[in-house]
Amino acid sequence: MTALKRVDVHVEGIVQGVGFRPFVHSLASRLGLAGQVRNDVDGVHIEVEGAHTELEEFLTALERDAPALSEIEAVTVVSGTPAGHTGFTIAASDPRGRPHALVSADSATCDDCLRELADPADRRHRYPFINCTDCGPRFTIVRGVPYDRPRTTMAGFAMCAACAAEYHDPGDRRFHAQPTCCPACGPRLRLLDARGADLCGDPVSCAVHLMRGGRVVAVKGLGGFHLAVPAAHEEAAAALRGRKHREDKPFAVMVADLAQARLLCQVDDTAAGLLTSRARPIVLLPRLPGAPVAPSVAPANRSLGLMLPYTPLHHLLLAELAEPMVLTSGNVCDEPIAHEDADALTRLGGIADAFLIHDRAIHVRADDSVVRPISGEVSVLRRARGYAPEPLTLRRPAPRPVLACGAELKSTFCLVKERRAFVSQHIGDLENHETLRSFAEAVDHFRRLFDLRPQIVAHDLDPAYLSTRYAMELPGVELTGVQHHHAHIASCLADNGDPGPVIGVAFDGLGHGPDGTLWGGEFLRADLTSFDRLGHLAHVPMPGGATAVRQPWRMAAAYLRHDHPGLDVVRRHADRWSDVLAGGGPLTSSAGRLFDAVAALLGVRDTSTYEGQAAIELEQHADPAETGAYPASLGHGDLVVVQVADLVRAAAADLAAGAGTHAIAGRFHNGLADAVARTCTVLRDTTGLTAVALSGGVFQNVLLVERTVRLLRAAGFRVLRHVRVPANDGGISLGQAAVAAARDRA
Ligand SMILES: [Zn+2]
Ligand SMILES: [Zn+2]
Repeated sequence: MTALKRVDVHVEGIVQGVGFRPFVHSLASRLGLAGQVRNDVDGVHIEVEGAHTELEEFLTALERDAPALSEIEAVTVVSGTPAGHTGFTIAASDPRGRPHALVSADSATCDDCLRELADPADRRHRYPFINCTDCGPRFTIVRGVPYDRPRTTMAGFAMCAACAAEYHDPGDRRFHAQPTCCPACGPRLRLLDARGADLCGDPVSCAVHLMRGGRVVAVKGLGGFHLAVPAAHEEAAAALRGRKHREDKPFAVMVADLAQARLLCQVDDTAAGLLTSRARPIVLLPRLPGAPVAPSVAPANRSLGLMLPYTPLHHLLLAELAEPMVLTSGNVCDEPIAHEDADALTRLGGIADAFLIHDRAIHVRADDSVVRPISGEVSVLRRARGYAPEPLTLRRPAPRPVLACGAELKSTFCLVKERRAFVSQHIGDLENHETLRSFAEAVDHFRRLFDLRPQIVAHDLDPAYLSTRYAMELPGVELTGVQHHHAHIASCLADNGDPGPVIGVAFDGLGHGPDGTLWGGEFLRADLTSFDRLGHLAHVPMPGGATAVRQPWRMAAAYLRHDHPGLDVVRRHADRWSDVLAGGGPLTSSAGRLFDAVAALLGVRDTSTYEGQAAIELEQHADPAETGAYPASLGHGDLVVVQVADLVRAAAADLAAGAGTHAIAGRFHNGLADAVARTCTVLRDTTGLTAVALSGGVFQNVLLVERTVRLLRAAGFRVLRHVRVPANDGGISLGQAAVAAARDRA
């Protein structure tokens, strides 16, 4: 038997909140080493033991393969005597580190707490607010800093003697757990009817009973209210959809565990890791045929958004319901999610039949985060609860504090202090007064939390965005405008810790172009300070302007014009086809609108009820096994122009010839990916750039991303994709902030 050795490793630098401990855990486990890793006051401490060769490899890989956002400043290694660890664990943080720690994200109930929750002998048996040092509410209950109980919404709950003893005992797992409490001293549940009167009985059992009967129950969660019905109950799901005025957007489904998730969706290792992560995001997964979910939950969708319970209350509800449950944001249409009791009763009064509430206030609203695995990697679609407000690390520090105000849809903002970029949680579409107020309040809260007075404020170039107007009205700051698609590419650079320059491919719905057209299918030479437009998708008019965004069939008209009069899409809109074409509209190079055209052409969607719907459904419609690709020619002038009308014409010809729409949708995706790769190859010849950054909401399309990345890599490119912030406009604020900081350094 090989002699065991042990080393104690101390790692300093930016190693907390960047996935360092899981990295160490997986590295050690892979090498068959035993021991533990934990955060301490100024870094990460690792005790590791095993055979000499594996320990050597461990120390090499620790620095070589460290997570992208970590910055190792120093590694100290001391030899010791093996302690006989079995297996490798992530231990609780050394509590001495807490006073310096930043406010962390809310974290799902840990296994230790779940054991107590289920233990009839434990004093917190079935207590819906159980938490500890390793889990529970954080960001959403913090009113101010430093983070301790009096500055949280737990301030009003005086600890009982038993809780206080645990809180002060360094050996206890609730040592300095700020939100700790128990049935004797902590918050309580109540179940109210729609008029706000108490319903009697056990609130959890009673709520479940109502749900089984098809009633909609509003449930107060971590970052806001949700609306819940059993996921298999069609009548209830349809009623919820109707009352929420939400026509097509899928509802998320909460499942009790991975086993239950596997009854509904394909769950691979990446997905399982995401579902069970502390952040507990909604994970978009391929739905299994015949999955027992009511049709109204996710109409016309091959995916389902699944999440696992993240609060003790969710665990109790699901255990009692014993089947998956729809859990969708407690709001009407696009308003911000309700998070205060009185407001919820008013705004959700017409939707919910009962309210499962409690007296621990939610200070900060945070929606559920949404992620999607792409080829074994993570893609964040909405970054909120569980991730915010943990900072991303910039490659170089900002000389002065920056506030970046983001765009309009899927709005976030970003505050930068030195190398830390605090991207806010998803705020929503900044299209109404309610959301703007929520945005302004969140900016103020972040400024206090991170003790930051922005001197530079970055904004979009679109003067009509409420975020731009908000920036313009801030007194005594230096403003810097950042073009929308430049911000997308800068966001991807910052997400990857890369300074550029790169060939940036920014494909999205629409953004303000400096030439007065609407951009959205752009090839840029970009770094963090500036960009040049090198190419774009060929312009096409958007018939009726903004109306075309809601009516994708207008884009089909723009591309097809009077060709193929026999196609169904032309027949469906025959009465308006000529008028719409004669009316014209602003020119756009938008990739999103191109997807709209093909979606309408194939009969997938003629009118949209939410942004990006037609494109999302077209992806769902495409046959992933299809290998054919439509060719698009490239026009070479000052700029490379991709003649995407070729793709639409080829699709129309195939359709007229009787080809299946799933195959056509597949060939369209493949053709666009091929056009992107060829365009980048042409641009590499003229610029010498060998790295490509993909950004913009269109690159949340798994099919398009997988194929584009494969072709680019085959052509020898290094490809940068989004990992930590969304490729859509939710990532714009990080890009604006990175640009503002880089310009300030220049
Ligand atoms: Zn816990
Ligand atoms: Zn207590």
